[in-house]
Amino acid sequence: MSVISRPLVEQLREQVRALVITAGDPGYDAARAVHNGMFDKRPAAVVRAEQVADVIAAVNFARDTGLELAVRGGGHGAPGFGSSDGGLVIDLSLMRTVHVDPKGGTARVGGGATWGDFNYATHAYGLATTGGIVSTTGVGGLTLGGGIGYLARSCGLSIDNLRSAEVVTADGRVLQASEQDNADLFWALRGGGGNFGAVTSFEFALHPVADIYAGIFFYELEHAADLLRFFADFIPSAPEAYGAFPAFQIAPPLPFVPAERVGDTFCAAIVLWSGPLGEGDEAMQPFRDVAPVVAEMVGAMPYPALNSAFDAMFPKGIRSYWKGSFVTELTGAAIEQHVRHGAQVPEVSATMHLYPINGACHRVAADQTAFAYRHATFAQVIVAAWHDPAVDEQRVRWVRDYYEATAPYCEPGGYVNFMDDDDGSRVQDNYRGHYQQLAEIKRVYDPGNLFHLNQNIPPDP
Ligand SMILES: Cc1cc2nc3c(=O)[nH]c(=O)nc-3n(C[C@H](O)[C@H](O)[C@H](O)COP(=O)(O)OP(=O)(O)OC[C@H]3O[C@@H](n4cnc5c(N)ncnc54)[C@H](O)[C@@H]3O)c2cc1C
Repeated sequence: MSVISRPLVEQLREQVRALVITAGDPGYDAARAVHNGMFDKRPAAVVRAEQVADVIAAVNFARDTGLELAVRGGGHGAPGFGSSDGGLVIDLSLMRTVHVDPKGGTARVGGGATWGDFNYATHAYGLATTGGIVSTTGVGGLTLGGGIGYLARSCGLSIDNLRSAEVVTADGRVLQASEQDNADLFWALRGGGGNFGAVTSFEFALHPVADIYAGIFFYELEHAADLLRFFADFIPSAPEAYGAFPAFQIAPPLPFVPAERVGDTFCAAIVLWSGPLGEGDEAMQPFRDVAPVVAEMVGAMPYPALNSAFDAMFPKGIRSYWKGSFVTELTGAAIEQHVRHGAQVPEVSATMHLYPINGACHRVAADQTAFAYRHATFAQVIVAAWHDPAVDEQRVRWVRDYYEATAPYCEPGGYVNFMDDDDGSRVQDNYRGHYQQLAEIKRVYDPGNLFHLNQNIPPDP
């Protein structure tokens, strides 16, 4: 049901000063679309919020009318929770301003900004904080789940850099959340996902990261086990300036790939060195020693260039399916399964990544934030993204087969931001020992479960 009665729409338009888009309005199709083309939801209304008052009014309206509420930041969520059939969407993407305080070393960013917005603003000051691998991903969803990215080993997860957040809760109040204010809410926001309210702004600590040394190495598949073993041994205790992770990857048609190897499947290392630039080339040596390099593109570059290097592979509307797990020990048996299934990666925009969860991430106490897997060594993600609906079943099958083959060697839970719409049964495992505390905080701030389009923690267990 995508249509609400005209009087109800008029009421919404009276209460919200921002643009309200409903079925039949120009721009409705663009306004309802999320990043993952597998979802084609038709909301009753999309509120294109521009300020906190719009968010409050929309939250109050959804609660009072009983319309299902979806909160959308960057719209990248794999399960399509940024939209709702017949519901009300608060689209925060116009709230994307970034204010940098270079003296204080912080940035305050609107709840709908992308990491591209964030990096653009902070790089001007030679500063950065941990964001994701792709710059079109939203700061909002990524941070609320934890925030894994290139800089995590040196700067911690995105949540480890979060200083405060401004939140509109289910009762329509605007709350500040920080170590000083509403500390329980602040704890829950750092890993508990979108369960607790609509975050209208985030304040982050920044680090002096401007130009980095980074890039990608391709190796023959026959060296995949060596590469994975190397990562298992090297990365947990490597200097924190390394932000590297292994992958399986079909070679795209890029100038550094020999023409006759375009389309071949490789194992790869995506590497970042955020230490002194002059040490960059030497820092790459372990990746040159691990196996003969078939193709490489590494060098000094601005951090935002690395953060947007993979953007073109994931355009809005591409279909996608994900499975994620945490890994404490990358065993020989697990590596065997990676080699088997990674070699069958079906598309240039399909891959398996093992992101390091160590270095600075391990220096934050396990109970300091709601993120439940501080003890993990890697966050594993298997993702397929493709354009042709005719191959939906094959792509989903590749991801599921790969996931099932590695699951015995992984933790039961995974990173909440790598869950898809069929992962509802894993929620308790994903929040692990923090689940009960999160449920208690949910009862305080959202007893009616208004914010339920997420990796949901129901207030009534
Ligand atoms: C191409 C791609 C690359 C990715 N790379 C990484 C990566 O490197 N590291 C990583 O950690 N994750 C990564 N992810 C996963 C990503 O963190 C999640 O998909 C995340 O949910 C995206 O956030 P979003 O704001 O873009 O998405 P949305 O779909 O807008 O939001 C997802 C959910 O987050 C909540 N939410 C979003 N914004 C707000 C807000 N302001 N207030 C309250 N709730 C909000 C809502 O519950 C919403 O349903 C990637 C995803 C994609 C598609």
